Amino acid sequence: MQERGNQIKTTCCYCGVGCGVVVSKHPGGRLTVEGDKDHPSNRGLLCSKGMNLHYTVMDGSDRLLYPHMRLNRSMPLQRVSWDQALDRTAAVFRSIIQKHGPEAVGFYVSGQCLTEEYYLINKLIKGFIGSNNIDTNSRLCMSSAVVGYKLTLGEDTVPVCYDDIESADVFLVEGANPAWCHPIIWRRIEARKQANPAVRIICVDPRRTDTARSSDLHLPIRPGTDVVLNNAIGRLLTEFNYLNESFITAHTAGFAAFREQVMQRTVAEAAELCGVPAADIETAAHWIGQSKGFLSLWTMGLNQSVIGVNKNLSLINLHLITGRIGKPGNGPFSLTGQPNAMGGREVGGLANMLPGHREVINPQHRAEVEAFWQGPVKLAATPGLTATEMFDALAADRLKAIWIVNTNPMVSLPDVNAAEEALRKSRFVVVQDISNRADTVRFADVVLPAAGWLEKEGTMTNAERRITYLPKALEAPGEALPDVEIIWRFARKMGFGDAFPYTTAGQVYDEYTQLTKGTNIDITGVNYGVLQRARSIQWPYPAASSVPERGTARLFTDNRFYTPTQRATIHAVPDGNASEPTDEDFPLILTTGRIRDQWHTMTKTGRVTKLTQHIPQPMLQIHPDDARSRGIREGQLVTVSGRRGEVRVKAQLTDDVRPGLCFLPMHWGKLVQGNGVSALLENLNRANNLTSALIDPRSKEPDFKFAAIQVTPYRKK
Ligand code: SF4
Repeated sequence: MQERGNQIKTTCCYCGVGCGVVVSKHPGGRLTVEGDKDHPSNRGLLCSKGMNLHYTVMDGSDRLLYPHMRLNRSMPLQRVSWDQALDRTAAVFRSIIQKHGPEAVGFYVSGQCLTEEYYLINKLIKGFIGSNNIDTNSRLCMSSAVVGYKLTLGEDTVPVCYDDIESADVFLVEGANPAWCHPIIWRRIEARKQANPAVRIICVDPRRTDTARSSDLHLPIRPGTDVVLNNAIGRLLTEFNYLNESFITAHTAGFAAFREQVMQRTVAEAAELCGVPAADIETAAHWIGQSKGFLSLWTMGLNQSVIGVNKNLSLINLHLITGRIGKPGNGPFSLTGQPNAMGGREVGGLANMLPGHREVINPQHRAEVEAFWQGPVKLAATPGLTATEMFDALAADRLKAIWIVNTNPMVSLPDVNAAEEALRKSRFVVVQDISNRADTVRFADVVLPAAGWLEKEGTMTNAERRITYLPKALEAPGEALPDVEIIWRFARKMGFGDAFPYTTAGQVYDEYTQLTKGTNIDITGVNYGVLQRARSIQWPYPAASSVPERGTARLFTDNRFYTPTQRATIHAVPDGNASEPTDEDFPLILTTGRIRDQWHTMTKTGRVTKLTQHIPQPMLQIHPDDARSRGIREGQLVTVSGRRGEVRVKAQLTDDVRPGLCFLPMHWGKLVQGNGVSALLENLNRANNLTSALIDPRSKEPDFKFAAIQVTPYRKK
């Protein structure tokens, strides 16, 4: 059972590690949180964010409590009833759809949505409104991994599980800083290393992060050269005879083209391009080649790139040529940043996907979903607008109405000044959120207050395909409603009541699980009762099957992949980068990322004093040589300028970044200052003022890790 006495077992609502937590309710309403010792993902551990989770439960002045709306943006928002807010929204949506077609409306959702919410919004817009314009902020963090898995393994499937950490002996952590961003996974890796000193950790990152500091080998490559490095390691694995020839022959395709590609560049050339010693690349190749368990882990450093898919392919190649997949301790492991990014992928909460990992462009997949939903429209055959495309379409007035659910794009989108301008000019904006700290609220025509963590029930899936049930433990304040109820109420206002008859989230979940029948992510055996008994289950978990009690820990144990031939595909990956060039005006490269104690745009963590103490203000990390040549001192206010905007922050001189590289945290925004950062900064602390609008052509994921900038001492104009 999830609830015993005054204790509730649930899941952390921050990152994709998906730690189990026990929340205790004390007299007077006080809450405390501890790690759930029985949860297999974290075994009782919590990181600093998890330990302060109870502060996430908001009932303060920053909480959205009642629906609000206004008839035009020059008016203040006025409190209204739920019926008034949803009637108006439905009327505006109907009018726009009638005049401009269903492609003129869209939903922009979040990896923080529960699976039921994701599913229902997807059903509404794709199956009943007739538009594929639903995309998610997860597009900004993992869509390159989705495409990478699909192109190699045949489907978006993470083949490994956290228990593989305890049987791996070489970890390749590339473009990730789990010591700060996935701390519980990192603690498991550290424990593995402590138990077996022969374990080797390789960290590939242009920055000397805490992960890099604790690794046996740090390869501080130049930004954008990941494919060059991976291809060089691939070449060396080939030359040093570490290939698994029988696996390659029996279970893969594409090796000949791969070999031809990696042989085009010598290791010395690769080392020169990457800016790391050739001997270190050789060491990495030997460690990987000689390992019994080879686990690679990656996040945004690979995914958030204009060549993000290529970076993913080149890394997964290393597993396929050595046969290091489908066995304990082996496999490519894309870590997810948000708590339910995986659940969103399952229900097809992306502009190009349908539930059960089906695809919009596949006629059979569309027919299956149409038959199941029995909506009034045929499913649109072309993918809808992705995250950044949605805001481009708003700017061009092709998209007339946008409904933003539990995300804060005015801080998190790349080239955010352009996105802000698009939102300002847009015809109709609905914001559904828990907090008025979200910068997006000030652009809203209708504001809908949502229930938060502990205030609603549902499910989430973490990075290892583990589904956990989250019970409702508290009443939402004011008139806030569970997101799933907001959507089914709206669907009824739109005239789709017959298909949205739900009264509980469990009914929505039961419907969704039946739609996975026959797919590779079949979870027809899962329901809330099963989840409450097992505590968590890893998909697939078909009904009446012989899968273990807690589901399927590891995929591809039989070496049969999800491609039509059941062979995994090894790719020949060109190693060029396509990021915006640096030049005399903007000679430095900016990379953005997270800090240890903050999460996303700080709408939750920014209100927790303990979490703002670690790094209270945004800062630009710059190499001392680059600072000296610009006359910049430690702690000095600097202007960071780029082709799209400007940021003003204090400089932190450190050789943790390579010469030519700067780092800026991505959390701070215009309204959410965090711990009283002063108006001195004039709200110019938003990293995405500088980032590039370039996207990977296949995954549509933005190039957050590479923007051309200049840094100068701040001077009053
Ligand atoms: Fe929460 Fe992630 Fe920390 Fe676990 S590692 S407690 S899921 S933030």
